[in-house]
Amino acid sequence: MDELVCYACDRRFDLDHRDRCTCGEPLWIDVDATGFDWPDGGPWSMWRYGSLLPVEPPDGIATAAGGTPLVRTPRLDVDGCRVHVKDETENPTGSFKDRGSAMGVSAAVHRGVGRVGTVSHGNMAISMAATAAGHGLACTVLVPADIPEDRLGHIARYDPRILRVEGPYGELYHESLALDAPIAFVNSDTPYRVEGQKTVALEVLETFAPEVPDAIVLPVSSGGQCSGIWKALGEAADAGLIDRPPRLFAAQSEARAPIVQAFERGDDVIEPVEPKETIAYSIGNVDPPSGARVLAALRDTDGGAVAVADDELEQARDDMARRAGICVEPSSAVALAGLRRLCEHGEIDAGEDVVVIATGTGFREPGDAAAVRSTTVDLDDLAGAL
Ligand SMILES: *Cc1c(COP(=O)(O)O)cnc(C)c1O
Ligand SMILES: [Zn+2]
Repeated sequence: MDELVCYACDRRFDLDHRDRCTCGEPLWIDVDATGFDWPDGGPWSMWRYGSLLPVEPPDGIATAAGGTPLVRTPRLDVDGCRVHVKDETENPTGSFKDRGSAMGVSAAVHRGVGRVGTVSHGNMAISMAATAAGHGLACTVLVPADIPEDRLGHIARYDPRILRVEGPYGELYHESLALDAPIAFVNSDTPYRVEGQKTVALEVLETFAPEVPDAIVLPVSSGGQCSGIWKALGEAADAGLIDRPPRLFAAQSEARAPIVQAFERGDDVIEPVEPKETIAYSIGNVDPPSGARVLAALRDTDGGAVAVADDELEQARDDMARRAGICVEPSSAVALAGLRRLCEHGEIDAGEDVVVIATGTGFREPGDAAAVRSTTVDLDDLAGAL
């Protein structure tokens, strides 16, 4: 585990190489999974896969990431396919991002790096700020200058240094990694993050073992999580724990669907798209840094890609609350909305076991008071009203 490797061309680099591969693709950590087996007992946590992970967590909030439930949700079944929700909203800050932050921050602690940073104005900023705070690291968050105040408030709860950056925010992802600054940037798909993100798939596979789910549907933006999941599937196969991978399906909002469009064109590279408005604000990356790697993952697993409209994902968000008791943000509901389309188009069949990843909590969403249905009743009339 002391080298980075390119999934596309197999070139290798030192672990502290900060750039991408010479071919332009993102790197991940080379892990030899032969001989790995599911742990015998031990706590239900992302850290139970120790020999597949590059570092161990120091005491603190990083130990609390992952180990989320996989909930069989019959009331969300679509056309006879069985839905299981991997409830990532139960992470310390309410999103799967905590897995990658836990790994990135743990690695920084081990290497004696006192300062970490990230480029995000959403869940990743909240997650990095919280995890860094829990381990006594200084955290710098680069947000766009015009970030909405309520989102800033959620990030500021953990008191990171917040820099509002003027200028093209999309370029910051690459620029922050290339900066000559004494800060370890843990961006959406940097190698340690991907190691953390892969544990969501390890947990799903271990829960199903010796069976394998037929498909996994997840919301995709930068492609960091999908990369991690694909990597985990490869490692589980190398260890002889699965004989076929679940098919991976990437779901996006129609307003910003560069990966879906590239997949449908049959391309293996991404064309950036013009940003359009959508309520799925956490998955709005119009030029995803791991987009090509996601396309490779979808094709390798015989999966696919699907885009949904805002009204479909609103419906899916409401159904997740009203039929499964799980409160997600709109970006997260894209997965269930996507599954519904995939079933409609016959890409997923009745009888299949499908895992939908609930990536982020809806608890931070403002409620819509105007849409609330309620009845006022006099105390004396209560029995009658009931
Ligand atoms: C970040 C995020 C995603 C997208 O993950 P990527 O790794 O950027 O593809 C999906 N859902 C939610 C709620 C997120 O915060
Ligand atoms: Zn390469």
